[in-house]
Amino acid sequence: MKPIQLISPVDGSVYAERTPLTLDAARAAAARAKAAQKGWAARPLAERIALVKAGVANLNANAEKIVEELAWQMGRPTRFGGEFGGVNARTEYMSEIAEATLAPQTIEDSDKFRRYLAREALGVVFIVAPWNYPYLTTINTLVPALIAGNTVVLKHASQTMLVGERLAEAFHAAGVPADVFQNVVLDHATTEHLIANRAFNFVNFTGSVGGGQAIERAAAGTFTPLGLELGGKDPGYVRADANLDAAVDTLMDGAMFNAGQCCCGIERIYVHESLYDAFVEKAVAWVKTLTLGNPFDAGSTLGPMANKRFAAVVRGQIAEAVAAGAKALIDPALFPADDGGAYLAPQVLVNVDHSMRVMMEESFGPVVGIMKVKDDAEALRLMNDSPYGLTASIWTTDYDTAADLGAQIETGTIFMNRADYLDPALCWTGCKDTGRGGSLSYLGFLSVTRPKSYHLKKV
Ligand code: NAP
Repeated sequence: MKPIQLISPVDGSVYAERTPLTLDAARAAAARAKAAQKGWAARPLAERIALVKAGVANLNANAEKIVEELAWQMGRPTRFGGEFGGVNARTEYMSEIAEATLAPQTIEDSDKFRRYLAREALGVVFIVAPWNYPYLTTINTLVPALIAGNTVVLKHASQTMLVGERLAEAFHAAGVPADVFQNVVLDHATTEHLIANRAFNFVNFTGSVGGGQAIERAAAGTFTPLGLELGGKDPGYVRADANLDAAVDTLMDGAMFNAGQCCCGIERIYVHESLYDAFVEKAVAWVKTLTLGNPFDAGSTLGPMANKRFAAVVRGQIAEAVAAGAKALIDPALFPADDGGAYLAPQVLVNVDHSMRVMMEESFGPVVGIMKVKDDAEALRLMNDSPYGLTASIWTTDYDTAADLGAQIETGTIFMNRADYLDPALCWTGCKDTGRGGSLSYLGFLSVTRPKSYHLKKV
Protein backbone atom coordinates (compact mmCIF):
# COMPACT_ATOMS: atom_id res chain seq x y z
CA MET A 1 0.00 0.00 0.00
CA LYS A 2 1.14 3.55 -0.70
CA PRO A 3 2.17 5.43 2.47
CA ILE A 4 -0.06 8.26 3.67
CA GLN A 5 1.93 11.43 4.25
CA LEU A 6 1.36 14.11 6.84
CA ILE A 7 2.54 17.42 5.39
CA SER A 8 3.20 19.93 8.16
CA PRO A 9 1.63 23.35 7.61
CA VAL A 10 4.50 24.90 9.59
CA ASP A 11 7.07 24.50 6.81
CA GLY A 12 5.59 22.17 4.19
CA SER A 13 7.83 19.26 5.22
CA VAL A 14 6.71 15.63 5.47
CA TYR A 15 6.33 15.36 9.24
CA ALA A 16 5.21 11.72 9.33
CA GLU A 17 4.15 8.94 7.04
CA ARG A 18 2.45 5.65 7.70
CA THR A 19 1.47 2.77 5.48
CA PRO A 20 -2.26 2.06 5.70
CA LEU A 21 -3.42 -1.43 6.61
CA THR A 22 -4.24 -3.82 3.81
CA LEU A 23 -7.85 -4.90 3.66
CA ASP A 24 -6.98 -8.25 5.23
CA ALA A 25 -5.09 -6.63 8.09
CA ALA A 26 -7.93 -4.16 8.63
CA ARG A 27 -10.48 -6.97 8.71
CA ALA A 28 -8.30 -8.80 11.22
CA ALA A 29 -8.13 -5.69 13.45
CA ALA A 30 -11.92 -5.39 13.42
CA ALA A 31 -12.23 -9.11 14.21
CA ARG A 32 -9.89 -8.75 17.19
CA ALA A 33 -11.99 -5.86 18.47
CA LYS A 34 -15.09 -8.03 18.18
CA ALA A 35 -13.47 -10.96 19.96
CA ALA A 36 -12.31 -8.75 22.84
CA GLN A 37 -15.63 -7.01 23.42
CA LYS A 38 -17.55 -9.45 25.64
CA GLY A 39 -14.61 -9.82 28.01
CA TRP A 40 -14.23 -6.05 28.28
CA ALA A 41 -17.97 -5.54 28.89
CA ALA A 42 -17.86 -8.22 31.61
CA ARG A 43 -15.41 -6.22 33.67
CA PRO A 44 -16.96 -4.13 36.45
CA LEU A 45 -18.00 -0.64 35.38
CA ALA A 46 -15.78 0.93 38.04
CA GLU A 47 -12.77 -0.88 36.60
CA ARG A 48 -13.49 0.34 33.06
CA ILE A 49 -13.90 3.90 34.33
CA ALA A 50 -10.63 3.70 36.27
CA LEU A 51 -8.75 2.43 33.22
CA VAL A 52 -10.15 5.14 30.97
CA LYS A 53 -9.27 7.84 33.51
CA ALA A 54 -5.77 6.40 33.86
CA GLY A 55 -5.40 6.55 30.07
CA VAL A 56 -6.34 10.23 30.08
CA ALA A 57 -3.95 10.86 32.97
CA ASN A 58 -1.16 9.33 30.85
CA LEU A 59 -2.03 11.72 28.03
CA ASN A 60 -1.69 14.64 30.43
CA ALA A 61 1.68 13.34 31.55
CA ASN A 62 2.81 13.54 27.92
CA ALA A 63 1.53 17.11 27.45
CA GLU A 64 4.74 18.74 26.32
CA LYS A 65 5.32 16.32 23.44
CA ILE A 66 1.64 16.36 22.48
CA VAL A 67 1.47 20.16 22.27
CA GLU A 68 4.60 20.28 20.14
CA GLU A 69 3.31 17.57 17.81
CA LEU A 70 -0.05 19.31 17.48
CA ALA A 71 1.71 22.44 16.25
CA TRP A 72 3.65 20.45 13.65
CA GLN A 73 0.60 18.49 12.53
CA MET A 74 -2.09 21.17 12.30
CA GLY A 75 -0.42 24.49 13.10
CA ARG A 76 -2.02 25.46 16.41
CA PRO A 77 0.29 27.82 18.35
CA THR A 78 1.95 26.07 21.28
CA ARG A 79 1.00 28.98 23.57
CA PHE A 80 -2.55 27.54 23.69
CA GLY A 81 -1.29 24.36 25.32
CA GLY A 82 -3.25 21.62 23.60
CA GLU A 83 -6.73 20.38 24.41
CA PHE A 84 -6.28 19.07 27.93
CA GLY A 85 -8.85 21.30 29.67
CA GLY A 86 -11.70 19.97 27.55
CA VAL A 87 -10.36 16.42 27.42
CA ASN A 88 -10.16 16.25 31.21
CA ALA A 89 -13.51 17.95 31.88
CA ARG A 90 -15.36 15.69 29.44
CA THR A 91 -13.70 12.54 30.76
CA GLU A 92 -14.50 13.57 34.32
CA TYR A 93 -18.14 14.35 33.58
CA MET A 94 -18.84 11.22 31.53
CA SER A 95 -17.17 9.08 34.22
CA GLU A 96 -19.22 10.73 36.94
CA ILE A 97 -22.62 10.11 35.27
CA ALA A 98 -21.83 6.65 33.89
CA GLU A 99 -23.22 4.56 36.72
CA ALA A 100 -26.53 6.39 36.97
CA THR A 101 -26.97 6.59 33.19
CA LEU A 102 -26.14 2.95 32.46
CA ALA A 103 -28.01 1.47 35.44
CA PRO A 104 -31.08 -0.63 34.61
CA GLN A 105 -34.31 1.26 35.04
CA THR A 106 -36.84 -0.72 37.05
CA ILE A 107 -40.42 -0.54 35.83
CA GLU A 108 -41.86 -3.13 38.22
CA ASP A 109 -40.40 -5.28 40.96
CA SER A 110 -43.34 -7.08 42.60
CA ASP A 111 -44.09 -10.61 43.73
CA LYS A 112 -45.43 -11.30 40.21
CA PHE A 113 -43.04 -9.54 37.85
CA ARG A 114 -39.67 -8.03 37.52
CA ARG A 115 -39.60 -5.71 34.52
CA TYR A 116 -36.73 -3.46 33.73
CA LEU A 117 -34.94 -1.67 30.94
CA ALA A 118 -31.20 -2.18 30.68
CA ARG A 119 -28.57 -0.61 28.46
CA GLU A 120 -26.18 -2.89 26.64
CA ALA A 121 -22.96 -1.99 24.84
CA LEU A 122 -23.37 -2.00 21.06
CA GLY A 123 -20.18 -4.01 20.38
CA VAL A 124 -17.39 -2.53 18.29
CA VAL A 125 -17.45 1.26 17.95
CA PHE A 126 -15.57 2.76 15.00
CA ILE A 127 -14.40 6.36 15.33
CA VAL A 128 -13.42 8.32 12.24
CA ALA A 129 -11.91 11.55 13.54
CA PRO A 130 -11.01 14.97 12.06
CA TRP A 131 -7.82 16.98 12.48
CA ASN A 132 -9.17 20.30 13.74
CA TYR A 133 -9.60 19.33 17.41
CA PRO A 134 -8.05 15.91 17.10
CA TYR A 135 -8.04 14.93 20.78
CA LEU A 136 -11.36 16.43 21.80
CA THR A 137 -13.39 15.05 18.91
CA THR A 138 -12.01 11.55 19.58
CA ILE A 139 -12.48 11.70 23.35
CA ASN A 140 -16.18 12.61 22.90
CA THR A 141 -16.88 9.08 21.69
CA LEU A 142 -13.88 7.11 22.93
CA VAL A 143 -14.56 7.74 26.62
CA PRO A 144 -18.28 6.85 26.75
CA ALA A 145 -17.82 3.96 24.31
CA LEU A 146 -15.15 2.26 26.41
CA ILE A 147 -16.87 3.01 29.71
CA ALA A 148 -20.12 1.51 28.41
CA GLY A 149 -18.32 -1.75 27.50
CA ASN A 150 -17.64 -1.36 23.78
CA THR A 151 -14.32 -1.98 22.14
CA VAL A 152 -13.08 0.83 19.89
CA VAL A 153 -11.27 1.04 16.58
CA LEU A 154 -10.00 4.54 15.77
CA LYS A 155 -9.10 5.83 12.33
CA HIS A 156 -7.68 9.30 12.74
CA ALA A 157 -7.35 12.00 10.07
CA SER A 158 -4.21 11.77 7.93
CA GLN A 159 -3.36 15.35 8.93
CA THR A 160 -3.19 14.31 12.61
CA MET A 161 -2.26 10.64 12.33
CA LEU A 162 0.05 10.79 15.35
CA VAL A 163 -2.86 11.68 17.63
CA GLY A 164 -4.31 8.18 17.29
CA GLU A 165 -0.93 6.73 18.22
CA ARG A 166 -0.59 8.93 21.30
CA LEU A 167 -4.09 8.03 22.48
CA ALA A 168 -3.48 4.31 21.99
CA GLU A 169 -0.11 4.45 23.78
CA ALA A 170 -1.62 6.33 26.73
CA PHE A 171 -4.56 3.95 27.12
CA HIS A 172 -2.49 0.79 26.65
CA ALA A 173 0.07 1.97 29.20
CA ALA A 174 -2.85 2.46 31.60
CA GLY A 175 -3.88 -1.18 31.16
CA VAL A 176 -6.59 -0.97 28.49
CA PRO A 177 -5.94 -4.14 26.45
CA ALA A 178 -4.51 -3.67 22.97
CA ASP A 179 -7.55 -5.24 21.28
CA VAL A 180 -10.01 -3.18 23.32
CA PHE A 181 -8.75 0.07 21.83
CA GLN A 182 -6.91 -0.04 18.51
CA ASN A 183 -5.60 2.83 16.45
CA VAL A 184 -5.46 1.95 12.75
CA VAL A 185 -4.24 3.77 9.65
CA LEU A 186 -6.75 3.24 6.86
CA ASP A 187 -7.39 4.68 3.44
CA HIS A 188 -10.89 5.71 2.47
CA ALA A 189 -11.64 2.61 0.40
CA THR A 190 -10.75 0.23 3.23
CA THR A 191 -12.68 2.37 5.73
CA GLU A 192 -15.78 2.21 3.56
CA HIS A 193 -15.31 -1.49 2.82
CA LEU A 194 -15.24 -2.38 6.52
CA ILE A 195 -18.37 -0.35 7.22
CA ALA A 196 -20.18 -1.83 4.23
CA ASN A 197 -19.32 -5.32 5.44
CA ARG A 198 -20.72 -4.85 8.93
CA ALA A 199 -17.40 -4.83 10.73
CA PHE A 200 -18.74 -2.34 13.29
CA ASN A 201 -21.80 -1.91 15.47
CA PHE A 202 -21.64 1.87 15.59
CA VAL A 203 -19.74 4.44 13.55
CA ASN A 204 -19.04 7.91 14.83
CA PHE A 205 -17.86 10.10 11.99
CA THR A 206 -16.79 13.68 12.64
CA GLY A 207 -15.79 15.62 9.56
CA SER A 208 -17.06 17.20 6.38
CA VAL A 209 -20.50 16.84 4.85
CA GLY A 210 -18.99 15.04 1.84
CA GLY A 211 -17.20 12.59 4.12
CA GLY A 212 -20.39 12.01 6.11
CA GLN A 213 -22.30 11.29 2.94
CA ALA A 214 -19.65 8.76 1.86
CA ILE A 215 -19.91 7.02 5.25
CA GLU A 216 -23.70 6.96 5.06
CA ARG A 217 -23.55 5.46 1.59
CA ALA A 218 -21.06 2.83 2.77
CA ALA A 219 -23.35 1.89 5.65
CA ALA A 220 -26.50 1.75 3.50
CA GLY A 221 -28.46 -1.42 4.09
CA THR A 222 -26.26 -2.64 6.94
CA PHE A 223 -28.40 -1.03 9.68
CA THR A 224 -25.18 0.09 11.36
CA PRO A 225 -26.11 3.09 13.50
CA LEU A 226 -24.21 6.25 12.62
CA GLY A 227 -23.34 9.39 14.51
CA LEU A 228 -22.53 12.09 11.97
CA GLU A 229 -21.03 15.30 13.35
CA LEU A 230 -20.42 17.43 10.30
CA GLY A 231 -19.81 21.01 9.26
CA GLY A 232 -21.27 24.28 10.39
CA LYS A 233 -21.72 27.93 9.44
CA ASP A 234 -22.52 29.21 12.88
CA PRO A 235 -24.11 32.65 13.26
CA GLY A 236 -23.74 35.27 15.94
CA TYR A 237 -26.55 37.78 16.46
CA VAL A 238 -25.90 41.00 18.35
CA ARG A 239 -29.15 42.59 19.54
CA ALA A 240 -29.52 46.30 20.31
CA ASP A 241 -29.35 45.58 24.06
CA ALA A 242 -26.09 43.59 23.88
CA ASN A 243 -22.95 44.28 25.85
CA LEU A 244 -20.96 45.42 22.82
CA ASP A 245 -17.43 44.87 24.08
CA ALA A 246 -18.18 41.39 25.36
CA ALA A 247 -19.91 40.53 22.08
CA VAL A 248 -16.96 41.70 19.98
CA ASP A 249 -14.45 39.91 22.14
CA THR A 250 -16.20 36.54 22.22
CA LEU A 251 -17.53 36.51 18.67
CA MET A 252 -14.22 37.54 17.11
CA ASP A 253 -12.36 35.00 19.19
CA GLY A 254 -14.97 32.43 18.10
CA ALA A 255 -14.29 33.40 14.48
CA MET A 256 -10.48 33.42 14.63
CA PHE A 257 -9.35 30.93 17.27
CA ASN A 258 -7.57 27.89 15.82
CA ALA A 259 -7.32 29.88 12.56
CA GLY A 260 -11.09 29.62 12.30
CA GLN A 261 -10.94 25.85 12.13
CA CYS A 262 -13.60 25.12 14.73
CA CYS A 263 -16.74 23.24 13.79
CA CYS A 264 -18.67 25.70 15.99
CA GLY A 265 -16.56 28.72 15.03
CA ILE A 266 -18.44 31.93 14.30
CA GLU A 267 -18.61 32.31 10.51
CA ARG A 268 -21.24 35.06 10.06
CA ILE A 269 -22.39 37.87 12.31
CA TYR A 270 -25.63 39.84 12.21
CA VAL A 271 -25.64 43.11 14.14
CA HIS A 272 -28.56 45.37 15.01
CA GLU A 273 -28.33 48.59 12.99
CA SER A 274 -27.97 50.70 16.14
CA LEU A 275 -24.69 48.92 17.04
CA TYR A 276 -23.46 47.97 13.60
CA ASP A 277 -20.88 50.71 12.98
CA ALA A 278 -19.41 50.43 16.46
CA PHE A 279 -19.31 46.64 16.26
CA VAL A 280 -17.48 46.66 12.91
CA GLU A 281 -14.96 49.22 14.12
CA LYS A 282 -14.20 47.24 17.27
CA ALA A 283 -14.12 43.93 15.38
CA VAL A 284 -11.50 45.27 12.97
CA ALA A 285 -9.44 46.65 15.88
CA TRP A 286 -9.71 43.26 17.60
CA VAL A 287 -8.42 41.40 14.54
CA LYS A 288 -5.50 43.79 14.17
CA THR A 289 -4.23 42.67 17.59
CA LEU A 290 -3.62 39.14 16.24
CA THR A 291 -0.15 38.00 15.29
CA LEU A 292 0.08 35.50 12.44
CA GLY A 293 3.20 33.41 12.54
CA ASN A 294 5.07 30.23 13.23
CA PRO A 295 3.14 28.30 15.92
CA PHE A 296 6.35 27.78 17.91
CA ASP A 297 6.89 31.55 18.33
CA ALA A 298 5.58 32.61 21.72
CA GLY A 299 4.09 35.76 20.16
CA SER A 300 1.98 33.95 17.53
CA THR A 301 -1.72 34.03 18.33
CA LEU A 302 -2.72 32.79 14.87
CA GLY A 303 -0.91 29.88 13.27
CA PRO A 304 -1.06 28.60 9.71
CA MET A 305 -4.16 26.75 8.58
CA ALA A 306 -3.70 22.99 8.81
CA ASN A 307 -3.05 22.59 5.10
CA LYS A 308 -2.47 25.01 2.26
CA ARG A 309 -5.38 23.47 0.36
CA PHE A 310 -7.74 24.56 3.19
CA ALA A 311 -6.33 28.09 3.01
CA ALA A 312 -6.85 28.07 -0.77
CA VAL A 313 -10.59 27.45 -0.21
CA VAL A 314 -10.82 30.47 2.11
CA ARG A 315 -8.77 32.68 -0.21
CA GLY A 316 -11.15 31.69 -3.02
CA GLN A 317 -14.25 32.55 -0.99
CA ILE A 318 -12.81 35.96 -0.01
CA ALA A 319 -11.78 36.84 -3.57
CA GLU A 320 -15.15 35.80 -4.94
CA ALA A 321 -17.03 37.85 -2.34
CA VAL A 322 -14.89 40.93 -2.99
CA ALA A 323 -15.45 40.55 -6.74
CA ALA A 324 -19.19 40.47 -6.01
CA GLY A 325 -19.09 43.71 -4.00
CA ALA A 326 -17.94 42.76 -0.50
CA LYS A 327 -15.48 45.05 1.26
CA ALA A 328 -12.42 43.51 2.93
CA LEU A 329 -11.57 45.59 6.01
CA ILE A 330 -8.20 44.04 6.86
CA ASP A 331 -5.18 44.90 4.76
CA PRO A 332 -3.25 41.61 4.41
CA ALA A 333 -0.02 43.65 4.43
CA LEU A 334 -0.58 44.01 8.19
CA PHE A 335 0.14 40.28 8.41
CA PRO A 336 3.47 39.83 6.62
CA ALA A 337 3.61 36.14 7.53
CA ASP A 338 0.82 35.52 4.96
CA ASP A 339 2.73 33.45 2.38
CA GLY A 340 -0.05 32.78 -0.09
CA GLY A 341 -0.11 29.21 1.21
CA ALA A 342 -1.11 27.83 4.63
CA TYR A 343 -0.31 31.09 6.47
CA LEU A 344 -3.38 33.21 5.82
CA ALA A 345 -4.11 36.74 7.09
CA PRO A 346 -7.41 37.02 8.96
CA GLN A 347 -10.19 38.91 7.22
CA VAL A 348 -13.39 40.76 8.10
CA LEU A 349 -15.88 41.29 5.29
CA VAL A 350 -18.77 43.75 5.12
CA ASN A 351 -21.21 44.52 2.29
CA VAL A 352 -21.80 40.78 2.17
CA ASP A 353 -25.05 38.94 1.51
CA HIS A 354 -26.34 35.40 1.25
CA SER A 355 -25.69 35.14 -2.47
CA MET A 356 -21.99 34.82 -1.57
CA ARG A 357 -20.37 31.48 -0.73
CA VAL A 358 -18.55 33.05 2.19
CA MET A 359 -21.93 33.54 3.91
CA MET A 360 -23.45 30.19 2.94
CA GLU A 361 -20.71 27.55 2.67
CA GLU A 362 -18.43 26.53 5.52
CA SER A 363 -15.19 28.57 5.35
CA PHE A 364 -13.38 26.85 8.21
CA GLY A 365 -10.79 29.60 8.22
CA PRO A 366 -10.00 33.02 9.75
CA VAL A 367 -12.67 35.03 7.93
CA VAL A 368 -16.03 36.37 9.04
CA GLY A 369 -18.77 38.30 7.24
CA ILE A 370 -20.78 40.95 9.11
CA MET A 371 -24.28 42.11 8.10
CA LYS A 372 -26.57 44.81 9.47
CA VAL A 373 -30.09 43.77 10.54
CA LYS A 374 -33.07 45.90 11.56
CA ASP A 375 -34.81 43.53 13.98
CA ASP A 376 -35.11 40.03 15.45
CA ALA A 377 -37.25 38.82 12.57
CA GLU A 378 -34.62 39.69 9.98
CA ALA A 379 -31.85 38.15 12.10
CA LEU A 380 -33.89 35.00 12.56
CA ARG A 381 -34.57 34.67 8.85
CA LEU A 382 -30.88 35.07 8.02
CA MET A 383 -29.67 32.73 10.76
CA ASN A 384 -32.01 30.01 9.48
CA ASP A 385 -31.06 30.64 5.85
CA SER A 386 -28.29 28.05 5.99
CA PRO A 387 -27.82 24.41 5.08
CA TYR A 388 -26.18 23.91 8.51
CA GLY A 389 -27.33 23.86 12.11
CA LEU A 390 -24.67 23.39 14.79
CA THR A 391 -24.73 26.40 17.17
CA ALA A 392 -26.06 29.96 17.24
CA SER A 393 -24.86 32.71 19.56
CA ILE A 394 -27.25 35.47 20.66
CA TRP A 395 -26.02 38.61 22.40
CA THR A 396 -28.60 40.28 24.60
CA THR A 397 -29.42 41.06 28.21
CA ASP A 398 -32.95 39.73 27.68
CA TYR A 399 -32.98 36.10 28.74
CA ASP A 400 -36.61 35.46 27.69
CA THR A 401 -36.06 36.80 24.18
CA ALA A 402 -32.91 34.70 23.80
CA ALA A 403 -34.82 31.58 24.82
CA ASP A 404 -37.72 32.50 22.55
CA LEU A 405 -35.44 33.14 19.55
CA GLY A 406 -33.57 29.97 20.42
CA ALA A 407 -36.75 27.97 20.04
CA GLN A 408 -37.10 29.30 16.48
CA ILE A 409 -33.50 28.77 15.33
CA GLU A 410 -32.74 25.56 13.44
CA THR A 411 -29.64 24.52 15.33
CA GLY A 412 -28.16 22.03 17.79
CA THR A 413 -27.07 24.47 20.54
CA ILE A 414 -28.21 27.97 21.49
CA PHE A 415 -25.73 30.17 23.29
CA MET A 416 -26.59 33.43 24.99
CA ASN A 417 -23.58 35.71 25.57
CA ARG A 418 -21.05 33.01 24.79
CA ALA A 419 -19.89 31.02 21.77
CA ASP A 420 -17.62 28.27 20.53
CA TYR A 421 -17.83 26.12 23.65
CA LEU A 422 -18.81 22.54 24.48
CA ASP A 423 -20.53 21.84 27.78
CA PRO A 424 -20.03 18.15 28.66
CA ALA A 425 -23.38 18.03 30.45
CA LEU A 426 -25.23 19.17 27.31
CA CYS A 427 -25.61 17.14 24.16
CA TRP A 428 -23.29 18.01 21.26
CA THR A 429 -25.58 17.69 18.28
CA GLY A 430 -26.71 19.35 15.10
CA CYS A 431 -29.44 19.41 12.51
CA LYS A 432 -29.73 19.80 8.72
CA ASP A 433 -26.37 19.14 6.98
CA THR A 434 -24.56 19.27 10.31
CA GLY A 435 -25.61 15.66 10.68
CA ARG A 436 -27.37 13.57 13.24
CA GLY A 437 -26.94 11.88 16.56
CA GLY A 438 -25.27 13.37 19.60
CA SER A 439 -22.29 12.99 21.85
CA LEU A 440 -21.54 14.10 25.43
CA SER A 441 -24.17 14.41 28.20
CA TYR A 442 -26.15 11.35 29.29
CA LEU A 443 -27.39 11.12 25.69
CA GLY A 444 -23.82 10.41 24.61
CA PHE A 445 -24.07 7.10 26.48
CA LEU A 446 -27.35 6.30 24.75
CA SER A 447 -25.59 6.58 21.36
CA VAL A 448 -23.11 3.82 22.22
CA THR A 449 -25.57 1.46 23.93
CA ARG A 450 -28.87 -0.11 23.00
CA PRO A 451 -31.89 -0.73 25.17
CA LYS A 452 -32.64 -4.27 26.32
CA SER A 453 -35.99 -5.07 27.92
CA TYR A 454 -36.27 -7.64 30.69
CA HIS A 455 -39.77 -9.00 31.34
CA LEU A 456 -39.44 -11.64 34.05
CA LYS A 457 -42.52 -13.40 35.36
CA LYS A 458 -42.23 -15.02 38.74
CA VAL A 459 -44.07 -18.37 39.06
P1 NAP B 1 -12.96 15.19 6.44
O1 NAP B 1 -12.06 15.49 5.30
O2 NAP B 1 -14.36 14.79 6.13
O3 NAP B 1 -12.23 14.03 7.26
C1 NAP B 1 -12.70 13.57 8.50
C2 NAP B 1 -12.22 12.16 8.71
O4 NAP B 1 -12.92 11.31 7.82
C3 NAP B 1 -10.75 11.93 8.43
O5 NAP B 1 -10.30 10.90 9.28
C4 NAP B 1 -10.76 11.46 6.97
O6 NAP B 1 -9.65 10.70 6.63
C5 NAP B 1 -12.02 10.63 6.96
N1 NAP B 1 -12.71 10.55 5.67
C6 NAP B 1 -13.09 11.59 4.90
N2 NAP B 1 -13.75 11.14 3.81
C7 NAP B 1 -13.77 9.79 3.90
C8 NAP B 1 -14.31 8.76 3.09
N3 NAP B 1 -14.92 9.01 1.93
N4 NAP B 1 -14.16 7.48 3.49
C9 NAP B 1 -13.53 7.22 4.63
N5 NAP B 1 -13.01 8.14 5.47
C10 NAP B 1 -13.12 9.42 5.11
O7 NAP B 1 -13.02 16.40 7.47
P2 NAP B 1 -11.81 17.19 8.10
O8 NAP B 1 -11.30 18.13 7.06
O9 NAP B 1 -10.86 16.25 8.74
O10 NAP B 1 -12.53 18.01 9.26
C11 NAP B 1 -13.11 19.25 9.07
C12 NAP B 1 -14.61 19.13 9.04
O11 NAP B 1 -15.06 18.50 10.21
C13 NAP B 1 -15.29 20.45 9.00
O12 NAP B 1 -16.35 20.41 8.09
C14 NAP B 1 -15.80 20.61 10.42
O13 NAP B 1 -16.92 21.46 10.55
C15 NAP B 1 -16.13 19.21 10.77
N6 NAP B 1 -16.19 19.03 12.22
C16 NAP B 1 -17.42 18.87 12.80
C17 NAP B 1 -17.51 18.73 14.18
C18 NAP B 1 -18.86 18.58 14.85
O14 NAP B 1 -18.86 18.32 16.04
N7 NAP B 1 -19.97 18.74 14.16
C19 NAP B 1 -16.34 18.72 14.95
C20 NAP B 1 -15.12 18.89 14.32
C21 NAP B 1 -15.06 19.02 12.95
P3 NAP B 1 -8.36 11.35 5.91
O15 NAP B 1 -7.88 12.41 6.82
O16 NAP B 1 -7.42 10.21 5.82
O17 NAP B 1 -8.81 11.88 4.60
